[in-house]
Order: sequence, then C-alpha cells, then structure tokens
Amino acid sequence: MTTNANAGTGARSTTGKPPATPTSPEKSAATIATGWLHTAKFLTTAPELHFLPALDVPEIAFVGRSNAGKSTCINTLTQQKQLAFASKKPGRTQHINLFALGKQGVMDAVLTDLPGYGYAAVPKQDKIRWQQVMANYLVSRSNLMGIVLMCDPRLGMTELDEVLLDVIRPRVQEGLKFLVLLTKADKLTRSEATRALSITRLQAGGGLVQLFSAPKRIGIEEASLTLWNWTHPAGAGNAVAAPLEQSAPLNTAAAHPPAGP
Ligand code: GDP
Repeated sequence: MTTNANAGTGARSTTGKPPATPTSPEKSAATIATGWLHTAKFLTTAPELHFLPALDVPEIAFVGRSNAGKSTCINTLTQQKQLAFASKKPGRTQHINLFALGKQGVMDAVLTDLPGYGYAAVPKQDKIRWQQVMANYLVSRSNLMGIVLMCDPRLGMTELDEVLLDVIRPRVQEGLKFLVLLTKADKLTRSEATRALSITRLQAGGGLVQLFSAPKRIGIEEASLTLWNWTHPAGAGNAVAAPLEQSAPLNTAAAHPPAGP
C-alpha cells in the first residue's frame, strides 16, 4: 500500500504547499507516521468515562457528527478495513472505543473513537445521555492530548460541532491539540476546497484544518504526521517533518453559545 497521499492520484496538497516528493525527508517521515498508525489494535470499549482504564500514554479522540466520515477516516489512517466499524456494532454504538498504537507491541498512544452525534433517528433521551458522556470524557479524561474533529465540508460546522468546540475550548487554550479534518474532499472542486478551508479556519480560530478523502487518498500523510508529532514531540528526539500549520486557540468570537443538549 502506498503511503504517499498524493502519489499517482494527482491529488492536491491539503494546505497549498507542494506535496512531498518520494525522496524528501517528509516522505520518510510520513512512512514512519503511517506505519505507526498501521499498528492500531482494538483495546477496549466502555459506556462511560469511569469504566475506561486509566492510561499514561497520550490519547487522541476522534469526534464528529454522524455520517461525517469518521469511521472511514480511522480505518483509512490505520489501514484497517473494519477497525472503526467495530464501533458501529450493536451494543457499541454509544460506547467510547479505544484503539492502542505502538510498534513491537509497546503501546505508546491511544486513539479514541467517540461515536457520532446528531443522528436524527436516535431517541432524544439517548442523545442527551450521549452528549453528557462525551462532554464528560472531553473535559475530564486526563491523558487526552488531542482532538480530531471530522467535518463534512458540504455541511460545514453544524450547531452540534459548535457545542463541541465550546466544550473543548478551555482545554485547547490550556494546550490540548486540535485538528479539523474536512472529509470527503473528493466531492469538492478546487475552489470549493479552498473556500471550505478558509471558512473552517476562521471558525476554528485559525487552527489546524486539513482536507481528507479516503477514496482519493487526500491528506492521509498530513493527518498521520500531525498525530505522530502530537504524540512523539521533538523534545523526545523522535518528531519528524513538522506538519504544516500550528494549532491556535479557538476563536471565541466565531463560536456560537452552547445550544444545550
Ligand atoms: P461516520 O458515521 O462518521 O463514521 O461516517 P462513515 O465513515 O460511516 O461514512 C459515512 C458515509 O460517507 C459512507 O457512505 C462513506 O462511504 C462515505 N464517506 C466517508 N468518507 C468518504 C470520503 O472521503 N469520500 C467520499 N466520497 N465518501 C466518504
């Protein structure tokens, strides 16, 4: 499987910078990052935060509106067909699902799949319960170090995404990493993609926003590098080619007040 997101697809860079060439340092950095994500294995599932094991490795949560493309994104990044779809099995649809990452079986980070919100067919009581579980996790999980928000750019940030931004804003201001992936980028023209990036960057306070497409393999290397560098910082001597923009505090002016559950 190729690890170059732009190889042979004519795919554009997700940020406007030229894509990595096969011999560039970015290329080998991307190989390390994508290889690391390939080690993902199901770790555990829990209905609420207090059932999760306390872990001392960094944890990155994937969140997003139902149907935003979160499962596809997790499966694509980890190069596993079914990993995140395990989260959609009966009994696990409203669970917090953890996946362990690490080479040679040594866990060095965890990905968390928080099932999607906003699915219309879910009864209201279940929606409220799930939003509370999610907010509790996002506010209180002590080893949580980063959040990846999946957003379908054709819908843009929805009201529930804005509620989520409000919940995580204090932690982002304290240093929690934050990345918005604009999924299904293959459905956008070049100018629509440019526009979606600018609008979402404004909404996310100029923070890290990247395009992503599973079928066109857009943005896989960039997202992989971002997650690797979050969890393997330069001080530890193992960071690789820096991802393309730095995270910035969320723009309080751009977000709407919480809409409630
Ligand atoms: P989730 O509910 O957020 O986990 O979303 P899924 O990963 O199940 O995806 C929802 C729908 O969007 C499915 O029909 C996917 O095939 C489709 N989808 C997901 N990612 C992409 C993408 O990058 N491009 C396109 N064209 N469709 C996608």
